[in-house]
Amino acid sequence: MGPTVAGGAGVVAEPVEGELAGVFPQFQILELIGSGGMGRVYKVMQPGLGRVAALKVLMPELAKDPSFVERFTREGRALARLQHPNIVSVFDIGETRGYCWLLMEYVDGVNLRQVMQSGSLSPKDALQIIPGVCAALEYAHGQGVLHRDIKPENILLDGAGRVKIADFGVAKLSEGEGRRVTLTVSGSSLGTPAYMAPEQIERPQDVDHRADIYSLGVVFYEMLTGELPLGRFPAPSETKGVDPRFDNVVFRTLEKQRERRYQTAGEMKTQVEQVKVGEVPPPMPSGSGAAGSGRVGEVSDGGRVREERVSQKAVWGMVCTVAGVVLLVAGTFVTRRVTLDESRSRMMYSEVAEQQRAMMEAAMEQQREMMRGMPGGAGGVLVPPVPVPEVRPAVPGETKNN
Ligand code: ADP
Repeated sequence: MGPTVAGGAGVVAEPVEGELAGVFPQFQILELIGSGGMGRVYKVMQPGLGRVAALKVLMPELAKDPSFVERFTREGRALARLQHPNIVSVFDIGETRGYCWLLMEYVDGVNLRQVMQSGSLSPKDALQIIPGVCAALEYAHGQGVLHRDIKPENILLDGAGRVKIADFGVAKLSEGEGRRVTLTVSGSSLGTPAYMAPEQIERPQDVDHRADIYSLGVVFYEMLTGELPLGRFPAPSETKGVDPRFDNVVFRTLEKQRERRYQTAGEMKTQVEQVKVGEVPPPMPSGSGAAGSGRVGEVSDGGRVREERVSQKAVWGMVCTVAGVVLLVAGTFVTRRVTLDESRSRMMYSEVAEQQRAMMEAAMEQQREMMRGMPGGAGGVLVPPVPVPEVRPAVPGETKNN
């Protein structure tokens, strides 16, 4: 019986290649779940184990390059060691008769793109989903593994609403000789650069875990507004009446310079959870910055920042002495801070809008080039483990050195 296509939005129905059954006699191929930039994902049954799994079969072109196969299998072993409730487990990985493949945990559910397209996603849902993604990233980064391709298609939600991240570390590999290869060759993957951090497009060899944090920020913004944060984009709260407390969190993830983003996914998770329980996340640290430059808040308007610091001190002094005025002052402070941060972010993004557009075009051109002649490649997925520092909410006005 010919397999059918699982009910994923945007998935084109097509029969499984006849030869796959011969290549993988150990699996009963049940359905084509979806296809992406690197290959196709099938729902399979392992009769011996009575287990349903997901089999990702990469495009055969990739397996023609021995260095790709070598690296794929070597790094695959590291990916198989990732064990986390918010990460799709990799059971096995290998190369068989010209096909590189991964056998994964099957997630019976939908991907985030499908949920967004259904129009049923609320900001409250975003608050349920984002912390799980942060937890997965924090864990993987601590293991020295970057995702490099965080996007809605890779965020899966099972029937119970649990979040599972797919494709850890396998979406982008780069060649050891300095030439980067982006293994996204289908037309459907041309949108991926929209989720990439600026440095990932400009200097792909120099990417670290903070690129994943940026990508998650793009997903977060899209979940809240339905739009991508390209060029000069409004604060989430300006588009759809989203709670303004989201704005600072989202803007911080989307900082062009990675030194100004959350430095760990755990830190982002903490602040998202503060919004979730109704707290106001602390303001962006004024002193964190590149190599301790301490100029983070002064990017667009140092005067405004100084003014903001003065008002923070004033507010905290009043909190100590006039308890009855606390709520009023705090309310004023919050409104003021959000306004300042929003305008600062908008100014920053208007300055970089043209640059980002140029980077997007360069990335698309890179992908078009690869579609013309598909090279193999390997490398770049594994990085030294990221030490996970103790996360402590910043105190307004405090200088943070990291
Ligand atoms: P993409 O490049 O878009 O991530 P993939 O080939 O990795 O493409 O996956 C295509 C689709 O298959 C995903 O968007 C997701 O909906 C589905 N999928 C991937 N992995 C799994 C899995 N382990 N369980 C269930 N569905 C999966």
